Amino acid sequence: MALQDKTSLLSLPLEALPGEGYRARQLAGWLYQKGARQWDEMTDLPKALRSEWAERFRISEVAEVMPYPSQDGSVKYLYTLLDGQKTEAVYMPYLNRKTICISSMVGCPAGCTFCATGRMGFGRNLTAAEILDQILWAAHHQGHAPREIRNVVLMGMGEPLLNVENVFAAIERMLHPQGLAMSPRRITLSTVGIPRGIYRLAESGLGVRLALSLHAPDDETRQQIIPTAHRYRIGEIMEAVRHYYAQTGRRVTLEYTLLRGVNDHDWQARALAGLFKGLSVHMNLIPWNPWEGAPHQGTPKAQILKFAATLEQQGIPTSVRWSRGRDVGAACGQLALKQPA
Ligand code: SAH
Ligand code: SF4
Repeated sequence: MALQDKTSLLSLPLEALPGEGYRARQLAGWLYQKGARQWDEMTDLPKALRSEWAERFRISEVAEVMPYPSQDGSVKYLYTLLDGQKTEAVYMPYLNRKTICISSMVGCPAGCTFCATGRMGFGRNLTAAEILDQILWAAHHQGHAPREIRNVVLMGMGEPLLNVENVFAAIERMLHPQGLAMSPRRITLSTVGIPRGIYRLAESGLGVRLALSLHAPDDETRQQIIPTAHRYRIGEIMEAVRHYYAQTGRRVTLEYTLLRGVNDHDWQARALAGLFKGLSVHMNLIPWNPWEGAPHQGTPKAQILKFAATLEQQGIPTSVRWSRGRDVGAACGQLALKQPA
């Protein structure tokens, strides 16, 4: 049977893996704990069983993995999927915690004007298995067990809340004690602000962190830079966010990519603070990362710091997130399947 016609093991909930209880647990251990990428690694499973399963099931969703290491230690991974489509993840080995930024789509339909992925347009949704396999392959290439990656951010290509079924299924396997056994607090889902998706996340009980890419406190500016935002007004997004607070009690992270002369005015910092008065938030200001042909310029450093100071004065805890991996096109918003020179 061709690989693509076989059942994907990573697509199955842990409870639906083949084999009786004990064998299924062994298989889960090979996939998620030891990160096996071949049937013949699974030496404690009877050979006959392995060949029988190998006929019906596949382990991996990826035909090819290309690593692009950055000077700063992060590595961009370009994955060719079984149908030839491509997607990307970025591995960041911070001192005491390994983090991976993964994609939820090939391309993205939201069309944000400052984002290289948005410029590409929409390819397709990734399956739950393809979302997970980005983590497994990165760990394999790094030569360590998948569970050593302790932090996952869904901030790569695509809008996770426009691919809710698959993203939530992938998160379930990340959290499952027989899966990647991750803590929900170490998984962050970043959204451009899809109200119905935020409601679903709040109701899901998954317990993962929410990051909201707001980029402007006013609908007019927001719609200029997120053309699809006319469907989701800030008022509606805020209602969904309030519901998320009520359900989870969790602090929300705000992401704000600073674009020169567009969303970096002092009045916007003050308006942002007004919007989140009394709510528990942390603001991440992201200096804009350039890409070829982009219709924007980044805010100069002095104005970034001023914007941050205004937010702080208004009571919003704020950090500036200087990106990693710029040299290999691995920084926020640079993911567009372009191979670095
Ligand atoms: N679609 C989701 C997640 C992927 S984008 C979302 O929009 O939240 C992840 C983050 O990268 C977003 O906050 C986005 O604003 C930021 N980003 C996109 N392009 C960027 C760029 N060129 N420079 C800096 N940040 C960028
Ligand atoms: Fe899509 Fe996020 Fe890029 Fe906007 S910033 S185009 S939502 S990936």
